[in-house]
Amino acid sequence: MSALEIPVARQLIDGAWVPAADQGELPVLDPANSKVIQRIARGGQADVDAAVAAARRAFPGWAATSPTERGALLGRWAALVMERVEDLARVEARDVGKPLSGGRMNAFIAQGIIEYFAGAADKLTGVTLPTRTPDYLGFTIPEPWGVCAVTLPWNVPTLLSAANVAPALAAGNTVVLKPSEVAPLGPLALAELAREAGLPPGVFNVVTGLGAEAGQALTSHTDIDHISFVGSTATGSAVMRAASENLVPVKLELGGKSPNVVFADADLDVAIPAIVGSITENAGQNCYAGSRLLVEESIRDEVTERVAAGMRAVRLGTWDMDLDMGPLVSREQRERVLGFLEEAPGEGARVVTGGAKAEVPDEGWFVAPTVLDRVDRGMRVVREEVFGPVLAIQGFTGTAQAVEMMNDTDFGLLACIWTDDVSRALRAAKEVRAGQVAVNQFHDAGVIGFPFNMQKDSGFSAGGGYAALREYTQEKAVAVRLLDR
Ligand code: NDP
Repeated sequence: MSALEIPVARQLIDGAWVPAADQGELPVLDPANSKVIQRIARGGQADVDAAVAAARRAFPGWAATSPTERGALLGRWAALVMERVEDLARVEARDVGKPLSGGRMNAFIAQGIIEYFAGAADKLTGVTLPTRTPDYLGFTIPEPWGVCAVTLPWNVPTLLSAANVAPALAAGNTVVLKPSEVAPLGPLALAELAREAGLPPGVFNVVTGLGAEAGQALTSHTDIDHISFVGSTATGSAVMRAASENLVPVKLELGGKSPNVVFADADLDVAIPAIVGSITENAGQNCYAGSRLLVEESIRDEVTERVAAGMRAVRLGTWDMDLDMGPLVSREQRERVLGFLEEAPGEGARVVTGGAKAEVPDEGWFVAPTVLDRVDRGMRVVREEVFGPVLAIQGFTGTAQAVEMMNDTDFGLLACIWTDDVSRALRAAKEVRAGQVAVNQFHDAGVIGFPFNMQKDSGFSAGGGYAALREYTQEKAVAVRLLDR
């Protein structure tokens, strides 16, 4: 089998790999050593116009194919992704800087997502509605929006591409995707496999480039019908303002400040490694990262000590060393994270471990896994998303205070509850304002089709699972009077 080729400085528009209209290019850097690993097209307004026009032309034909046929094409795409899963793992790992095993996990999840929506394409149904008399019939028809714009961040680009593009296509939409210019290679590789799988030209287009150029041109385009934005809260807010000009519906998946809440009766042998993993996986650059650790006071010292030991044991290295944690994705991201670490001690935080750059061979953008305690709600490191391997520990007493502290954040993405007491777990799960809750595990491992829901400033609308298929449709309501013939 030949190596997976990602065309250099090309974007996928109308089924063909083409350069940017103005021939501009951008470098993609290896986070481990700042070397250029690829060049991408610097797309702009003209490229976005061409991609949206191609998606518009392709839409009627694609929407008219039977859901079974769409599912079969997506199934072929999923099969090709499975064949190339190791190639995709390498692309993702090198581009983002994560260990190869992390890239592999993301590539497998992306494959599973595409396969899920291949199977779901012909399971999307409307409902029949009750009527006041037998002379009426009421029902709904789920219909695709049309041309969907998808704008993604750099942290898990392959998985997020699958999670947004596959349900949109399964529901009969066409797509224009703008990945982050910081890590665009996984999405480009997935798009090439979709093309090889036989998706018709124009159904899935990718425009690469800068957020302020290609991103803004896409999200403010007057001929798109739906926007799916994954990224920071600040940019999400700007995208929503642009969408309001054109009255386009928006799905927003934004940042997080997720708590791991550890009660005194928790099984610490299970909890501690998961808590360490929750903030060091992908170097803490996950929207659901467990960046706040809330611990019942009676076990606070023990948990702090054990978590700090776990963080010190995390092995750092480049993607191909395949250890536990890689560098941050870019110089800017590391400067941002170090800014938090410089500020926190001055505000009274104690650095239990880490707290600075990490000394690692190669000149990558590494930060040491860091644990801070003596933090409080007023500190920026507790309030804002750091997006790095930085854990802030706070103590609590009793379920009511635990819930209050879980909710003491602008974000509402994930909450993880560690306890042996089912009533306490369910009370906390019910009262926390978060889109997703995990009990005695970190996140959704093992649950198929887990909806990736969000509350508060973390965003809204459903991603993941069957709910995502619904997100990419609008319902038409039909009322019929049955005349007496
Ligand atoms: P950004 O918000 O900076 O960027 C996201 C995407 O939007 C990028 O493709 C970016 O392009 C583009 N963009 C930037 N400015 C504009 C604009 N004015 N109009 C349209 N598009 C624009 O996020 P990051 O890439 O820094 O990613 C990190 C963030 O993503 C974190 O906050 C994280 O929590 C969040 N995230 C949320 C997830 C969720 O499911 N809730 C999942 C994963 C990450 P470019 O990069 O080229 O500037």
